[in-house]
Amino acid sequence: MEESNSYYTRELGARKRIALIAHDHKKKDLIEWAVHNKEQLQKHQLFATGTTGKLLEKALDVHVTQFLSGPLGGDQQIGAKIAEGKIDAVVFFWDPMEALPHDPDIKALLRLAVAWNIPTACNRATADFLMTSPLMREEYEVILPDYSKYLGRKV
Ligand code: PGA
Repeated sequence: MEESNSYYTRELGARKRIALIAHDHKKKDLIEWAVHNKEQLQKHQLFATGTTGKLLEKALDVHVTQFLSGPLGGDQQIGAKIAEGKIDAVVFFWDPMEALPHDPDIKALLRLAVAWNIPTACNRATADFLMTSPLMREEYEVILPDYSKYLGRKV
């Protein structure tokens, strides 16, 4: 992380580390989208929650690093990787029509994606815009708030 005046930047490489997650009713959509974007996705490094990862690996015939299944902690693992600067983009087809047991984990993952300002697509249209952006194939500097003020606060 590099400091410049009152903000920080983080470099995203040209080859992105993309986390993919889909809830059960959205898995078909994500797989269809991924197959459609197979050529682009193969240029990047892919990560996923357990079940999504297995389906993606089979459909794309590429290696997908798999975390635990979402409800068993996979969303939290991906959130932790975002905080560590080890995930560059998220494609998360979450289900807007169903409450899930791990709703707090989903919120936590989405919160960290915003806090660390990484590109995050939560539906298919946004995922299309993301994948067709030239920035997906270039290095990109993510601008971050100066969290040192928060870390240096008086407690
Ligand atoms: P899954 O987890 O890929 O293991 O189904 C996704 C989720 O429910 O967050």
